[in-house]
Amino acid sequence: MNAYLISIGDELLIGQTINTNASFIADKLADINVNVTKIAAIGDSESSVLAEFEHGLEQNDIVIVTGGLGPTHDDITRTCVVKFFETELVENEEVLENIKDVFAKKNRELTDVNKAQALVPAIAKPIKNYQGTAPGMWIEKDKKIFIVLPGVPYEMKCMMNEFVLSKISERIPDRDKIIKRYNIQTTGIPESYLYEKLGDLDELLEGAKLAFLPSLVGVKLRITVEVNDEETAKNKILEIEQKIRTKVGRFIFGRDDDTLEGIVGKLLKERDLKISTAESCTGGFIAHTLTNVSGSSSYFERGVVCYSNASKVEILRVDEDILVELGSVSREVAMQMAEGVKSTSGSDIGIAVTGIMGPTGATTDKPVGLVYIGYCDDKVCTGMKFNFGNDRLLNKQRTTWAALNMVRKQLLGIALDE
Ligand code: ATP
Ligand code: MG
Repeated sequence: MNAYLISIGDELLIGQTINTNASFIADKLADINVNVTKIAAIGDSESSVLAEFEHGLEQNDIVIVTGGLGPTHDDITRTCVVKFFETELVENEEVLENIKDVFAKKNRELTDVNKAQALVPAIAKPIKNYQGTAPGMWIEKDKKIFIVLPGVPYEMKCMMNEFVLSKISERIPDRDKIIKRYNIQTTGIPESYLYEKLGDLDELLEGAKLAFLPSLVGVKLRITVEVNDEETAKNKILEIEQKIRTKVGRFIFGRDDDTLEGIVGKLLKERDLKISTAESCTGGFIAHTLTNVSGSSSYFERGVVCYSNASKVEILRVDEDILVELGSVSREVAMQMAEGVKSTSGSDIGIAVTGIMGPTGATTDKPVGLVYIGYCDDKVCTGMKFNFGNDRLLNKQRTTWAALNMVRKQLLGIALDE
């Protein structure tokens, strides 16, 4: 089955709102093997809305519309539905009850504008709004399904999860093939290198599909197989994963929804180790990321932000002469910071970062993006050099992922290579 998504709202066209509704819906439809052919974002204009309705229904089995369902002057979706399907508005008892309920619970007076939301196009079956007042609409005509949902993300999501997805699933004809998707998460290797290391993709995949999805933490590899049954799908995915692991195993940190901080946390917990961080250029971002994991108190001891040279000497016992001689952005200082936070905190591992985040601050021999990461445990004290880009915030994030990856590699006994 094919689907066409239409997101309505001027705010989408001026960049004020990111079209997260479409990505949520597309993701959910992919799970039930509905193929999204196009996502359209349009403004609050009747002519463009009607044109998109027409266009969407032409070549697709399902059209899903979000936005513009509310009671204000710029909410024109319902009027467009009435015009497009040549139907009329009728008051719906159940919807009116729901609206009354919502207002009674909030102790607010019901206005005519709110009551008017109980007017539903005669052709539509209303979809209950558990989170608000505007009902969604389910319309079936000429074997096609036309769905309208509110723009407010949590209202839309609730209707998708509670009603729309199961109802669409019922309509999907039995297919002889099933589609399964599976993600392998890598870090510390750019997309192009990964591509090269994987070699001949036809040989690797034997008919399956592979997508490279890069982000700041790393490249996600999405494998898609289309086969006859669950068992074959599982085996085929495992077989491909195994082949990928043989080629790039040391860059793989997890699967599907795994996070790097979650995986590092799991490794620390399994080994009963405590970690502390000493951060200069990331200003606490590593500590923040590590503590995004629930239960991190069992392995995260402390995080120190040592921005000034004085604080590096005072809190982390970095050698003042070395600081003056080599500068704070140096391998030696990063290692001393890691050693300092490890020993002063009594942790098993110390990790430290120092660098030039930009856009200013470069010197003749130290460019923007230069970062040193120090790692220290009972056996090893080492430092690595990185060259990131010019964007300050991206550099802070890249440094964080590189530091966490360094901990992951050390814990797993994977060699550190620059
Ligand atoms: P309401 O009944 O609240 O008016 P509505 O159906 O009229 O709902 P809109 O007025 O279009 O929805 O949007 C309401 C809110 O939802 C806005 O804050 C808007 O930014 C957000 N929103 C709308 N469309 C999208 C979208 N495609 N992705 C993410 N957020 C969206
Ligand atoms: Mg609105």
